[in-house]
Amino acid sequence: MRPTEDEHVTSTADRAVDVLFLYSKDMNIYGDFGNLLTIRRRLALYGYDARLHFYNPGDDWPDHVDLILGGGGQDLGQKMICEDLSARADSLRSLVRAGTPALVVCGLYQLFGHFFESIDGTRMEGIGIFDAYTIGQADRLIGNVVEQSSQFGEIIGYENHSGQTFLEEGATPLGEVDRESMGNNGVDRTEGARAFNAIGTYLHGSLLPKNPLVADFLIRTAIERRYGRFAPKQIEEQRRELQLLDDLAQRARSVAAH
Ligand code: GLN
Repeated sequence: MRPTEDEHVTSTADRAVDVLFLYSKDMNIYGDFGNLLTIRRRLALYGYDARLHFYNPGDDWPDHVDLILGGGGQDLGQKMICEDLSARADSLRSLVRAGTPALVVCGLYQLFGHFFESIDGTRMEGIGIFDAYTIGQADRLIGNVVEQSSQFGEIIGYENHSGQTFLEEGATPLGEVDRESMGNNGVDRTEGARAFNAIGTYLHGSLLPKNPLVADFLIRTAIERRYGRFAPKQIEEQRRELQLLDDLAQRARSVAAH
C-alpha cells in the first residue's frame, strides 16, 4: 500500500534518513542510479531528508544506515568489489538481519547470494544474505520483464545477465515472471529473492521510478525503524508531484508488456 499522509505530523526537526549506495563506481549499470534518485526525491516529497553515503572499496563505513541500495555491474566490476564486499559482509549481514530495508540489483543481487561462478570459471564468494547461487552461462537472458509479486503486485523492469540464479530450498523469490520473461534462470519462472526486508532482483530499468510501491516499501520501512512511525509532512505541491510521479510510473507500466 502506498503510504498516505499522517495527520499527526511529528514536530521533530530531525527527519534525516541515511541511505547507503554500495559500490557506486563499479556496480551501477543500466540506469540503476535512478533508484537512488527516486528514493531521494520521494523522501523529500514526504518531508524527509536523505543523507547519501556513497561507498566504494576502501571508503569509511557510515556510522548509521537506514536503507541500502546497490546496482548491477559487469563480471569485471563484480571481481573488483568482491574482496571488499567480503570484508564488509558482517556489517551488511547484521544490518539486513536487523531489518534494514535493502534493494540490490543484478550483479549485487548475485553477490548477496552464496557465490557467483562467472562464465570464465572465476568463483566469486557472496555474502549469503539470500540462499541462492549463480552460474554464468553463454546465453544472456535479456529483455523486458513482467512479474507478479505477492507483496507488490505486478512489477516491471528490464533484465540483462549471463548469470543464472538458483534459489535453494526454502528461499523466497521476489516474484513469478510471465511467460516471456526469463527471471532468475529462464527455467523455474522465479525472479529475485526476499530475505528479511531485503530485496534482490534482476530488474534494472530503473526499477524504483516504475514501481513506486517498492520504493515506498523501502522508504516506509526505513523510517518506521528509525523513528517509530512514518509521518509524511507535505505541502500541496509535494502531494501533487508524488501523484504526477505515480501517474508517470503507471504510463511506463502500461507500455511495458512484451
Ligand atoms: N555480470 C553479471 C551477469 O551478466 C551481472 C550483470 C548485471 O548486473 N546486469 O550475470
